[in-house]
Amino acid sequence: MIKIDRYRCGCCGACVTVCPTEAIDMIGMWIEINEDKCNRCKACVNICPVGALEQEQ
Ligand code: SF4
Ligand code: SF4
Repeated sequence: MIKIDRYRCGCCGACVTVCPTEAIDMIGMWIEINEDKCNRCKACVNICPVGALEQEQ
């Protein structure tokens, strides 16, 4: 699963845009990842400019 560091996330929306399965939703200043939709491609981890996303086993 993808772990979100909410203290680092600046809600830039880059991960939402890059996600190929539309697994990330932004609700106000809060992102949520739908684990059922996530295919673990790590595109969001790689694009996040502040390193707020991390893949966990
Ligand atoms: S790992 Fe890939 S599929 Fe999962 S939330 Fe990130 S960009 Fe979307
Ligand atoms: S790319 Fe990083 S900083 Fe931007 S919304 Fe996603 S987790 Fe937050």
